[in-house]
Amino acid sequence: MDLDKLIRKNIQELKPYSSARDEYTGEALVYLDANENPFNSPYNRYPDPLQRKLKKKIASLKNVSEDIIFLGNGSDEPIDLLIRAFCEPGIDNIITTDPTYGMYEVSANVNNIEVRKVSLNDDFQLNPEEFISLSDKNTKLTFLCSPNNPTGNSLHRDSILKIIREFQGLVILDEAYIDFVVEKSFLPELEKHNNLVILQTFSKAWGMAGIRLGMAFASPEIIRILNKIKYPYNINILVQEKALELLEQEGDKQKWVEKILDEKKQLAEKISNFPFTVKVYPSDANFILVKMFDAKGIYDYLVENKIIVRDRSRVHLCENSLRITVGSKKENEILIDSLNDLI
Ligand SMILES: *Cc1c(COP(=O)(O)O)cnc(C)c1O
Repeated sequence: MDLDKLIRKNIQELKPYSSARDEYTGEALVYLDANENPFNSPYNRYPDPLQRKLKKKIASLKNVSEDIIFLGNGSDEPIDLLIRAFCEPGIDNIITTDPTYGMYEVSANVNNIEVRKVSLNDDFQLNPEEFISLSDKNTKLTFLCSPNNPTGNSLHRDSILKIIREFQGLVILDEAYIDFVVEKSFLPELEKHNNLVILQTFSKAWGMAGIRLGMAFASPEIIRILNKIKYPYNINILVQEKALELLEQEGDKQKWVEKILDEKKQLAEKISNFPFTVKVYPSDANFILVKMFDAKGIYDYLVENKIIVRDRSRVHLCENSLRITVGSKKENEILIDSLNDLI
């Protein structure tokens, strides 16, 4: 893969905005370079545009080097930046699976990029040959999500590897739910494949959806491109500091994951026994996809009882299916009690 050929010409030639904090990064006695207010410390200061302290912590947590990390306002930011950096509006295209996470298509649409979709099979798996056969010289990016949303399953490792090996553009692998699955992350594969970009997030297993912090891992060359086009101060100081503090809770996160997995097992079993359930699909994530005889009826009934799940019935291959997030023991009990009242 030749990154120089893949990147949009205007992005390659772009001279990025250079902030005061970019131009001087050392420790100083007096900072008079950024038109900041000297009062109201510490909020008066612009944040570190490259989030060095936070990246150092994440690098040690993930056992990777700092220069392969990009941090964004959720995973949504790197998804959008990748499309903007590599796809020429009205000309280029991306490939993804159907169904999958909706943001790839939305970001592509915002940027006027064609989206080509390959249907998963009945086991929600992917045919890598078919996937690659949809690509042409204008296919710059492919998006894979494993474990996949909303289906919950992991894609076969061999299929993902085949696409990484054979596709000529970037393969963006979204691992938002990787902490819930024993299957190994593709992070160690980054060294071998310079066309691989891995997305992870603090929104799920780490319980930080509210602070909006997502990660992209890729070669230093790709990270430099993302840094070049992001908003200079995309992660504010409140988020950088809070994340540093919350990342000390790795033990808690591990306990939460174990509890959620235990709850998931019980929830899946109970729901699969209801007469209105067709099947509960296997899940490697913190949610289950459930096929019902009448998903809309169950959904409406639950809403009446102030219990909100996601009706995915209009999604390809998810007809009559609800996506149910695994909650706390108490929350799951409320759901099950409510469904019990139906029979
Ligand atoms: C929840 C989710 C994310 C997380 O998005 P953030 O913007 O980081 O909160 C990313 N990808 C998938 C597939 C998800 O389901």
